[in-house]
Amino acid sequence: KLVSREFKHEDTIVNIDGVLVGGGHLGIMAGPCAVESMEQLQESAQAVKAAGAQFLRGGAFKPRTSPYDFQGFAEKGLQMLKTVGEKTGLKIVTEIVDVNAIDMHCAYADVLQVGARNMQNFELLKVVGKSKKPVLLKRGMSATISEWLNAAEYILSEGNYNVILCERGIRTYETFTRNTLDLSAVAAVKELSHLPIIVDPSHGTGRWQMVRPMARAAIAAGADGLMIEVHPHPEVALSDGDQSLTPENFDVVMKEVSQIAAMM
Ligand code: PEP
Ligand code: MN
Repeated sequence: KLVSREFKHEDTIVNIDGVLVGGGHLGIMAGPCAVESMEQLQESAQAVKAAGAQFLRGGAFKPRTSPYDFQGFAEKGLQMLKTVGEKTGLKIVTEIVDVNAIDMHCAYADVLQVGARNMQNFELLKVVGKSKKPVLLKRGMSATISEWLNAAEYILSEGNYNVILCERGIRTYETFTRNTLDLSAVAAVKELSHLPIIVDPSHGTGRWQMVRPMARAAIAAGADGLMIEVHPHPEVALSDGDQSLTPENFDVVMKEVSQIAAMM
């Protein structure tokens, strides 16, 4: 398999227009769950950049559980992301949900996120594999490590080797947390694959109070970076406010994480 350590021994370093992720380079992707307004996005971007993130995340096409929940601003949201990305120098990470929207996403985004719900959307995997954009492949909420790596294989087998994996929690019997963050996936992926793996403690726990300790643990476990939801006003967020950090709390996380990274 192309994703395997046997095929390629050295860690893959994904280069996103000069920002490296993997092989000792930490990629920090932060920002709101959804793009809600220019003001919200700009405030988020300034905050995450000041704290040291290199990537701004934000959804314009939101795969919401309920059809009555905010679905995102679609192409308008992508335009806002690109504008703010160019203004701040942050690289843009945003989710693609539709095979027919590949050209549009490639025009606006620096990293194409394939979400947990689409991890086994094989046509989408083939389409992002044919593009030359770096891909962030989230783990499906019920996916084994093997299924997840096979999903990555779909992308590599189309010729796109710029894949970053993202552990975002899996479904278990536990209900206190939104998902059960499987930090052992970091060690498992490091053993099995050369691809970089980052951790999303926001979706992984669903609770902002738990993001800080789990972010520290992820870096200590050897993760190549983090995806963290940050909102200037989490209490009024249109999605995932309960798991979103304030800019102040994100700054604390970043300081702790860089201390841990320096010890590794
Ligand atoms: C997200 O990143 O906002 C998201 C929807 O994540 P996941 O696919 O992991 O649920
Ligand atoms: Mn979210």
